[in-house]
Amino acid sequence: IKVPSLALNNGIAMPQLGFGVWQVEDDQAFTVVGQALEAGYRSIDTAAIYGNEAGTGRALAASGIARDELFVTTKLWNSEQGYDSTLRGFDASLTKLGLDHVDLYLIHWPLPSKDLYVDTYKAVEKIYADGRAKAIGVSNFLPAHLERLLGETSVVPAVNQIELHPQFQQAESRAFHARHHIVTEAWSPLGQGRGLLEDPTIARLAAQHGKTPAQVVLRWHLQIGNVVIPKSVTPSRIAENIDVFDFTLDDADLATLAGLDSGNRLGPDPATFDMA
Ligand code: NAD
Repeated sequence: IKVPSLALNNGIAMPQLGFGVWQVEDDQAFTVVGQALEAGYRSIDTAAIYGNEAGTGRALAASGIARDELFVTTKLWNSEQGYDSTLRGFDASLTKLGLDHVDLYLIHWPLPSKDLYVDTYKAVEKIYADGRAKAIGVSNFLPAHLERLLGETSVVPAVNQIELHPQFQQAESRAFHARHHIVTEAWSPLGQGRGLLEDPTIARLAAQHGKTPAQVVLRWHLQIGNVVIPKSVTPSRIAENIDVFDFTLDDADLATLAGLDSGNRLGPDPATFDMA
């Protein structure tokens, strides 16, 4: 299966569907990243805090897939915010991954109470200028945080990775990103598999299209322009989640799904989350 790419604001191509590895142990990451690559995924989303950059890196190496066909994202953890500590945090991630560059480097959370994200981003810009990240961006940034970066730094973030699924559609952030040529990347795209996939409306659409609820939800993300990074450790679901390029939701289906937004987050609120 071949996944289409989106062009980021600096021209770098990012696969629109990738594989997320949150809550996967390092050894298991070696196994499931290998399975994902086998199934056709080429984009992998990890983070320093996930503790599985080493296993992920070993799977990438073992796959034998050319580096320029892979798209590797990792993220700076909160405890490393600040200019010098960001440079050190990045070095540590690169070493664990066994790579000489990543494709996308993100600041994991804004931590507005610490007020370090501008300095942190300036270090990320340095990493970008040195060619050690092909694209840079942020995660969990609210429009107000992005406004500050746009005003006080030089490189417009290529991506903002945020919680987004049919029950939490993030209309305001998506519109802001579109205005500034920032790609919206959806985390917990399947609503963490809790509840969303049992929704009767989604089940009805799935039956109509002869696909599964997870496939309908992923198709929705792709058609509204999101990058999507579903996670699974089950081989059949890893394959199922990439098998979403042989059907199309029509306007009525999209309107039906638009109606499922409840405005309720599953994860923390970026305005207040300050875990280090
Ligand atoms: P997800 O929405 O991808 O859901 C994953 C869960 O859904 C699985 O554990 C499984 O229980 C279930 N599932 C997966 N495929 C299924 C299928 N085909 N049928 C039925 N159930 C299925 O949740 P996630 O892992 O939270 O998010 C995906 C990725 O997003 C993460 O792995 C991580 O890479 C990223 N993420 C980033 C942040 C951030 O702060 N930047 C936060 C959370 C997640």
